Amino acid sequence: MRNFLGRLFFGGACFLCRGSASGLLCDACLGELPRLGAELCPRCALQSPHGALCGRCLAEPPGYDATVAVLAYDFPADTLVHALKFRGELALAPFLAELVSQKLAPEARRVDCVVPVPLSAARLRSRGYNQAAEIARYLMPAKLDVGACARRHDSAPQMQLPWAERQRNVRGAFGCNRRLPGARIAVVDDVMTTGATLDEIARTLKAAGAAHVVNWVVARTLPPS
Ligand SMILES: [Zn+2]
Ligand SMILES: [Zn+2]
Repeated sequence: MRNFLGRLFFGGACFLCRGSASGLLCDACLGELPRLGAELCPRCALQSPHGALCGRCLAEPPGYDATVAVLAYDFPADTLVHALKFRGELALAPFLAELVSQKLAPEARRVDCVVPVPLSAARLRSRGYNQAAEIARYLMPAKLDVGACARRHDSAPQMQLPWAERQRNVRGAFGCNRRLPGARIAVVDDVMTTGATLDEIARTLKAAGAAHVVNWVVARTLPPS
């Protein structure tokens, strides 16, 4: 039904180039999406020779155990993510969820619940929806748990801060509403930038008892060189 509505809404035109398309994107645009390579650190999804654990994750292990990311946060992935997040193009959610789903190995799917990165109540009210939850509910609807983790307060938007300050900015921003003993949890977000937000969420989930936390994200920002 949603796919049907999506096609109706976009009139059979590619969301990016307006050429004819049977889905949201035409085959050419689909082929040109900036997919991440195979040699990624399994923990943070940044490039790492032979796909080994990277030096940063070895030196300062993040709270999460693994990250699956599909696209580099470059054009046109940024256009798609931005349109879902700020322009209410909700038909992009099942499309982006499908990209993530295609990259999940069978063993990666063994999770007890799927938790979208929460927005604060104030931001949820002003935006009207949580883009991470919109993606997450197409991934594993039966395991979706939007209430496991809440955002207690808004910190300054991460985008406006230098990378080094982002960790401090989100400290204590999240809270769990119940114990999660031994749970294997997938945390879903649209974009992973420094990973500071996902690190803090993983630490919060583990403090509530979670045993294993993996990130499922659509796009990964590559660090400034
Ligand atoms: Zn196109
Ligand atoms: Zn790493």
